[in-house]
Amino acid sequence: MKQKIKEYFCRKCNRSFYILIEEGKKAVCPECKSEDLVNVPNSPKKNVQINCKCSKD
Ligand SMILES: [Zn+2]
Repeated sequence: MKQKIKEYFCRKCNRSFYILIEEGKKAVCPECKSEDLVNVPNSPKKNVQINCKCSKD
C-alpha cells in the first residue's frame, strides 16, 4: 500500500492542507468533506526565503 502526502487546496472552503492519501484514492477535504480539491504543486516559498532579510540579531 503506497501512501503519499500531498498538498491540496479546497475550492469550497478556500483552505489548503496536507493529506496523507493512499494511491488511487480520492482526497477529501478534512474541513468540509468536499472532493473539489486542487493539487498544489510544491510551493515555491523556498525561493522567497532567499530574499528574506528579517533576521533580528
Ligand atoms: Zn473544504
